[in-house]
Amino acid sequence: MPINRVKEKRMYAKRITSLPPYLFAEIDERKEEAREKGIDIIDLGIGDPDLPTPPHVVEAVCRAAKDPLNHRYPSYEGMLSFREAVAAWYKHRKHVSLDAEEEVLTLIGSKEGIAHSAFAFLDPGDIALVPNPAYPVYKNATVLANSIPHSVPLTEENEFRPDMEKIDGEVAKKAKIMFLNYPNNPTAATVEKSFFKEVVDFAHDQDIIVLHDNPYSELTFDGYEAPSFLAVDGATEVGIEFSSLSKTYNMTGWRIGFAVGNTEILKGLRLVKTNVDSGTFQAVQIAGIAALTGPQDCVKANVAVYRERRDILIDGLRSAGMEVKKPKATFYLWAKVPSGFSSIQFSMLLLERAGVVVTPGIGFGENGESFVRFSLCVSAEGIKEACERIKGLGL
Ligand SMILES: *Cc1c(COP(=O)(O)O)cnc(C)c1O
Repeated sequence: MPINRVKEKRMYAKRITSLPPYLFAEIDERKEEAREKGIDIIDLGIGDPDLPTPPHVVEAVCRAAKDPLNHRYPSYEGMLSFREAVAAWYKHRKHVSLDAEEEVLTLIGSKEGIAHSAFAFLDPGDIALVPNPAYPVYKNATVLANSIPHSVPLTEENEFRPDMEKIDGEVAKKAKIMFLNYPNNPTAATVEKSFFKEVVDFAHDQDIIVLHDNPYSELTFDGYEAPSFLAVDGATEVGIEFSSLSKTYNMTGWRIGFAVGNTEILKGLRLVKTNVDSGTFQAVQIAGIAALTGPQDCVKANVAVYRERRDILIDGLRSAGMEVKKPKATFYLWAKVPSGFSSIQFSMLLLERAGVVVTPGIGFGENGESFVRFSLCVSAEGIKEACERIKGLGL
């Protein structure tokens, strides 16, 4: 229904009309169109676990939902018991000591914390260093804060890591925050602690706040262990890390994550949050405690499932003539687009002629253009079928 507006007033704020279309929403539309045409879709597009949340976590939320104590507003920063569970998890998994009261903040999913960080640290015209390609929220939240995303290229030659030395000196001097994400979405690139040390030195020299996004830290393969950014000396002086239960415990729908690290930085984020949300449902936090402190074989089982799917998809894509590296983490494969196609053209070809949904690399930034992202959130059978169909295209 069109709204009748007084003529001289714009309906939407410029900050939202200047946003690029949210890629995943657009792909959903294309997918629907294909479905309506009767195409049988195998969705290797969006990264959303198809496996259920572990039963002990579901049971914990059911119990907690029945307790009237959990029906009222939660605290802004999250239940202390949840934050203590996060601190214990970080100690055990990442060898990082955190003060649960001062250095842990509960989030309504890490996306919420990432997006609100832009409002905590950026004034209009301020610069954020944003990797390209990247999870779109870093750039879009910066745009929503009327600030300037400065693209930092992640290239194959540099193993999809930013080259801090190549960042323009004036830009580095002005930049206020830097977004980072390893294990990386969409490239599946991983790093060692030595890389984070370089980042910490750069951030110290240039007085930049580092926001490290680490939702895939537990989905690692072949003996690789993803370090926490905070495990590097000096990191807590310059940054925070976002983590999430979404990918580790198949809890994307539950909306719970956390930010940890520098107390002053977390205070800024908390101040924004106290004014726009009222915390995470306590029953969900209690379920989060069950996930973080309960048996972890569910995580091992998850990893085993993704590893098997990864290997099937790699073999299948390679035998279909595509070029793809074997990643050590995440549930994505970042594959080269065959020559002669743009990433959107190739994605549309896969959708229309094979019924296979992938995400065109350009949706993550111009530097993603010669790639497409396959996610592993479909059964091994589905992946095999997708590979057969792609092989049938005779690329
Ligand atoms: C999935 C994802 C998130 C969002 O996780 P939530 O905790 O569900 O909000 C954040 N960052 C990256 C890179 C992701 O892939």
